Amino acid sequence: MVRMESILGFQRGFVQLAFLVLVLPLVPFPAAKAADVTSTLVIGGSRIDVTIETADAPLSQPDVIKWVQFAAESVAAYYGRFPVPHLTLRVVSFDGSGVRHGTTWAKDGGLIVIHAGSKTTPADFAEDWMLTHEMIHLAFPSMADEHHWIEEGLSVYVEPIARIRAGHWTAPQMWSDLVRDMPKGLPKEGDAGLDHTHTWGRTYWGGALFSFVADVEIRKQTKNTKGLEDALRGILNAGGDIRKDWDLEKTLKMGDDAAGAEVLLKLYTEWKDKPVEVDLAAMWKQLGVESDGGTVHMNENAPLAAIRRAIESGTPVTKASDSVPPSNRVAATTAQPLAVYAGRSARSN
Ligand SMILES: [Zn+2]
Repeated sequence: MVRMESILGFQRGFVQLAFLVLVLPLVPFPAAKAADVTSTLVIGGSRIDVTIETADAPLSQPDVIKWVQFAAESVAAYYGRFPVPHLTLRVVSFDGSGVRHGTTWAKDGGLIVIHAGSKTTPADFAEDWMLTHEMIHLAFPSMADEHHWIEEGLSVYVEPIARIRAGHWTAPQMWSDLVRDMPKGLPKEGDAGLDHTHTWGRTYWGGALFSFVADVEIRKQTKNTKGLEDALRGILNAGGDIRKDWDLEKTLKMGDDAAGAEVLLKLYTEWKDKPVEVDLAAMWKQLGVESDGGTVHMNENAPLAAIRRAIESGTPVTKASDSVPPSNRVAATTAQPLAVYAGRSARSN
């Protein structure tokens, strides 16, 4: 199963944070070609081998490593750990600026190929969402083609939340984007449900809408003690990462059990083969997300304001959710940076 991004349309602001980076001894990367620069990052118990394929347009190795580090930290903050033990990440340069064309495969335990422009500034890299989106694909099992929407939808929905949790994005920016973009996931004329409507809008944003509604429902059912991340961590910690081909219903049931809710499987049964409308205006109002065009304001007196805050900053950690080994655990209630260790770069031949 391959996930390739053709998306976009996010306009995002400025984020910054300082991180601890330590240098480890050189780890050679056997597949590297003559002109490639390879580095290794270690995050928790996982290793990321980053190969920069420079071609004619050179990339700043420190900028690239910091970018990879931000994305890896974001994903680990949401899931409690990096999703797979080993990721091969190939960064291919082009003459220009920005990040484009990310693709994720299950191959070799996890492979991401993504393109970055030689004129990309550190601020551009700090705002990038695409690498985080790709890494989130590692954290869910591979699905049959008709369920591609769940793979993309989870990545679209979880990505900004993961970046907020790691301190690389802000909640007002996320809500502003969601108010603007979530309507793209609503069913249009002739829609036959998520499993049978393979348009761009329904695949990416329809899947994101499913994830958002599920997140809010899980929090309502559990009195805001659990959220979508508890379901997704349960799936991941049961072995459900990109390397596995799993059945969707079985996977969703596993997520419901982990969150102690009956939401995901029920929602899937309702949404899979018919167009289900969602009253987004009512959801924003209940959550206290008030938009006046470009800017959003948070109404802390809204009935579901506490659920909105839990989506942003995480479900309070309870004994029941302490299933992740201590070495990999991330505080879910604070935007706490992780230590990521970058190996020295090398030119192999
Ligand atoms: Zn994707």
